[in-house]
Amino acid sequence: MNTETIANATPITRFLIEEQRRLSTSPGSPGGGGLTALIHDVRLACKRIAALIGKGALANTLGEAGSVNSQGEAQKKLDVLANEIFLRTNEWGGQLAGMLSEEQAEPYPIPPQYPRGPYLLLFDPLDGSSNIDVNVAVGSIFSVLRCPEGVTEPSAADFLQPGSAQVCAGYAIYGPSTMLVLSTGRGVHGFTLDREIGEFSLTHPNLRIPETTSEFAINASNSRHWEPAIRRYVHECLQGQSGPRGRDFNMRWIASLVAETHRILMRGGVFMYPRDRRDPGQPGRLRLLYEANPIGFLIEQAGGRASTGLGPVLELIPQELHQRVSFVFGARTEVERIERYHRDHNEFELDVPLFGARGLFTTPTV
Ligand code: MN
Ligand code: MN
Repeated sequence: MNTETIANATPITRFLIEEQRRLSTSPGSPGGGGLTALIHDVRLACKRIAALIGKGALANTLGEAGSVNSQGEAQKKLDVLANEIFLRTNEWGGQLAGMLSEEQAEPYPIPPQYPRGPYLLLFDPLDGSSNIDVNVAVGSIFSVLRCPEGVTEPSAADFLQPGSAQVCAGYAIYGPSTMLVLSTGRGVHGFTLDREIGEFSLTHPNLRIPETTSEFAINASNSRHWEPAIRRYVHECLQGQSGPRGRDFNMRWIASLVAETHRILMRGGVFMYPRDRRDPGQPGRLRLLYEANPIGFLIEQAGGRASTGLGPVLELIPQELHQRVSFVFGARTEVERIERYHRDHNEFELDVPLFGARGLFTTPTV
């Protein structure tokens, strides 16, 4: 970076304050200094986590914590530490009425010694933590909702708002460089952490997802459990040039939602974690409130589409705090195609006759 670039870089603080000035003049906006202050605290939490993760084994933070979270999943030491960092960094600032973490069954109330504010913060403090011990990119995901008017002690029901109600969403990715990517409803902007000055600078303004792609991401080891629409879509991609799509596709799978999202925001693609047959009571793997909703918000703000496979994920009315959901997102035309396949034929019981025997999946349609 040359000296001119350093002098002209837009630090995240300046970006947020300018955004706040713009918002405060538009009626009905979610603006105001409170949101800016909240995002500042979230950014500090992400810097703290980045510093800790960056030390790796030197900080003795790798490995299992020996505990399970609210959903019965084994916690890594860093899951626990990142959760602590999020809670401690965001509880005192006076902008929040409550928090909800992946790691805790119930909402976290703001301790009585701190002032309350108008927002709710929902987060996955460490996403992709199975990648921690192998030094692959992980992240943090966050979502900001308005606390319902007049509520100072939010209950679980106050968090059950559709993704379309988010006033801000974003993630940090802890990779070769640490980045913060966020949206307050006016596009998606990426900031890179300058480790020497300890601050994020705007490096990726107005991210846009290309409408079409030849790259898809799915955990193929689950293919025998997939629903027919997903099997058809992937099968057609794999057929490449000689199939109905008429071109070759590439596959990627990092097993870290943040890293998959980041790749798609940077160069396009489509991601699928569909519902499958393993547990009919469980419509998918990813959590709606602090994974699919914030990521979906960013994707839609970047011109992509975020879906359950059946329709927009942001329109779902949540029923439970840790509800899971089928999640397909990325390039708009590809996600619309997958939705179309769901509408065309997606009954599990039709699965067997439709595959092979009647040759439906080689029909060059749509
Ligand atoms: Mn996660
Ligand atoms: Mn997590």
